[in-house]
Amino acid sequence: MQAGLRVQSVCAVLSMCVLVSAAPARSADAPSKLVAVRAAAMVDVVGGKTVRDPVVLIEGDRIKAVGAGLAVPAGTRVIDLGGATLLPGLVDAHTHITTTYRFLLKGGPMHDAVTAHVHARKTLEAGFTSVRDLWSKDFIDVALRDAINRGEVVGPRMQCATLAIGSTGGHNEDVEDLSPTIAVGGNSGIADGVDGVRRMVRFQLKHGADIIKIMATEGAGEGDNLVNETEYSLEEMQAIVEEAHRYGKKVAAHAHGADGIKVALRAGVDSIEHGTFLDDEGIKLLKARNAWLVPTVAIHDPKDAAQELATNPGRKERYDLFRRASYEGFRKAVAAGVRIAMGSDSSVIPHGENARELTWMSRTGMTPLQAIRAATVGGAELLGWSDRIGSIAPGKYADLIAVEGDPLADVSVLERVRFVMKGGDVVKNELRSSLAGR
Ligand SMILES: [Zn+2]
Repeated sequence: MQAGLRVQSVCAVLSMCVLVSAAPARSADAPSKLVAVRAAAMVDVVGGKTVRDPVVLIEGDRIKAVGAGLAVPAGTRVIDLGGATLLPGLVDAHTHITTTYRFLLKGGPMHDAVTAHVHARKTLEAGFTSVRDLWSKDFIDVALRDAINRGEVVGPRMQCATLAIGSTGGHNEDVEDLSPTIAVGGNSGIADGVDGVRRMVRFQLKHGADIIKIMATEGAGEGDNLVNETEYSLEEMQAIVEEAHRYGKKVAAHAHGADGIKVALRAGVDSIEHGTFLDDEGIKLLKARNAWLVPTVAIHDPKDAAQELATNPGRKERYDLFRRASYEGFRKAVAAGVRIAMGSDSSVIPHGENARELTWMSRTGMTPLQAIRAATVGGAELLGWSDRIGSIAPGKYADLIAVEGDPLADVSVLERVRFVMKGGDVVKNELRSSLAGR
């Protein structure tokens, strides 16, 4: 992030219709539409154990059956992944898939619109078959989601937060220090006052938002009073939550500072994003409200900070403060049993490197299994899609990934996903595979 720029720490419920259509009747001599995926092992994310010699039987875009050594009907197309380990497709609950953190002053949203499909493919090929996208310019996320759903663009299933909602002068403002005489055009998502924020929720829902996102505090790179500041009043946040929930949509709150986290939770938001300066009272509120935490711990990776700190060493103290606070709050939340979903904040970290978040979750407070659950069953539940994604089970989408190695021993193997299937379609296969029975 460049000094002087106020950049979104770029931080979505899909009303994308997911239709379970009955399979069309096949004549006796029609080719089989059954596919079987075999591997050496499979992580049972619900049971928390490894299953040996799994077979996943797929019909159309759904899983028909799964089990160890399952019989494969004659005529089934077999994809044999050799010694690999299967997992369900991963869920990233916090992406910014349409943006690159660039072109804030030059170029504008057209750059994002042109490159969004590249990020979508990278994200899917990294094993993330579903994402919740939590801020985009000019409804580019909605256009991308719809193109993916129509099969015109390769990418993950998406839920979109569109513009997010922020106060004047707050985290939704892209550029700081501009003269008041310079107007920044486009859809900003900026709204103030109870009536203003209600209108903004309705505007975003009208144009395709699946989820509403509140900028409850400043971004990680902005502001001087992060621990205590809050960018909306309780009444404004309550109005946003009430309006979104009335339409059956969840609310995510970007919140770093302790006070902002607590005001957002008291207003009734469904998830806290980042939660950097989460304190004990905040953890109690998360538990009492049964709300989710999406901790984004990988955004403090020293590897990424090194470049910025080399040119701007004065930011080191602030960077260290954020990093320590983020890890400490995360560890306490895990110990307290707070519901946690994995979110990478991708665009802050490069698109396609989303799984770095799982590695950092396991380094800073979770077991590999806990991190994997946060990125599968946890994400699915937060998205409200437990009936269709998050585990390898009959009736769910055939969203599968495979890795080499044992992710329950070393979760970082998920940074090198070798096979991806989304809805029964093979998106990527770098493993030894063989086709039989065609
Ligand atoms: Zn973000």
